[in-house]
Amino acid sequence: MTEIEEMYRASLARWGVEAQYDQAVEECAELIAALKHFKRDRIGEEQVVAELADVTLMIGQLTWMLGEERVQRAIEEKLVKLRRLLESE
Ligand SMILES: [Mg+2]
Repeated sequence: MTEIEEMYRASLARWGVEAQYDQAVEECAELIAALKHFKRDRIGEEQVVAELADVTLMIGQLTWMLGEERVQRAIEEKLVKLRRLLESE
């Protein structure tokens, strides 16, 4: 188990499944708000980067919980569709 996987395991053990979903939703909402504020020049790029980091960590947590291989397969399917779309225009 890598160091980050150990942290995902420890977070799940400490706070439980529901808290992980709730935290992911909260971090996504914070990123949405940060992007809106950034567009209006109310915050700087560093704050957007900080919120991206939070969301990236929660995506890592949920991906670890749901299965890295499943998520990787889904990403590959979506990339196939995106590639077709890019080639069609
Ligand atoms: Mg955040």
